[in-house]
Amino acid sequence: MSGVEWAVGASILIAAFGLAIGSFLNVVAYRVPLGMSVVTPVSSCPGCNSPIEARDNVPLLSWILLRGKCRHCAEPISPRYIVVEAITGAAFVVVALFFLPQALAAASVPALVSAVLVLVAFLYLAAITVALSAIDIDVHKLPNRIVLPSYAVGGVLLGAAALVGGDLEAGARAAAGAGILVLFYVILALVKPGGMGMGDIKLAGVLGLYLGYLGWAQLIAGTAGAFVLGGLFGIAVLISRRGGRGIPFGPWMFAGAWLGIFAGDQLVNTYLTAVGLS
Ligand SMILES: [Zn+2]
Repeated sequence: MSGVEWAVGASILIAAFGLAIGSFLNVVAYRVPLGMSVVTPVSSCPGCNSPIEARDNVPLLSWILLRGKCRHCAEPISPRYIVVEAITGAAFVVVALFFLPQALAAASVPALVSAVLVLVAFLYLAAITVALSAIDIDVHKLPNRIVLPSYAVGGVLLGAAALVGGDLEAGARAAAGAGILVLFYVILALVKPGGMGMGDIKLAGVLGLYLGYLGWAQLIAGTAGAFVLGGLFGIAVLISRRGGRGIPFGPWMFAGAWLGIFAGDQLVNTYLTAVGLS
């Protein structure tokens, strides 16, 4: 197989995996704010209560085949479900294409294991990005039930990657990144009461962990990115006079973080060159 064929094949598999995870994230985003279990009971139609059968629960395809309506009572099914699935599928492909080359280039078994752990850690970050952004937009909350376990998941995966890969500096930087970002958001909350919520402060530590693992440039660009992107959006909302009830900041924290993950090095270098420091 050529490199291109390999990449296309892997992308299709990862997209399918992402669609399945996206289907689960729909359940998470709907049930977690209501304090419900994400495992039981099985999903049912809000219109007629009939349980959703397996054949009607295939990501993307079922919604399209059913033309967005319940098989039994024709209650419309929100297109949001396939939007969340499609975004998750696309996000998984982008994350895999960014992190897989490192795994494929690994020259030793420990390097390969480390790179795979990093890939899994960032796929998990992509999943909570989708779930928490959806919930924050819906109800202006970043539930502890998702944010707090993410410290453990990210910490264990990235910690193991650092240990196995022999990159203890990355591990230490991840821990420092988490602490620094929590402290930064606490200071912001104290300086401007009502600006940052507790959910934002707790999420900041998770993002600091991930960004710190990759590097200082990623941490700086990822943090600044949230305020630049969120600020630009806020200005756009002000100009169009549409806002009303404040804009949740969680999705912008994630957007900034991903900007830092994918382009942190380039952004910081460009900035340093522009101000004449490098
Ligand atoms: Zn129904």
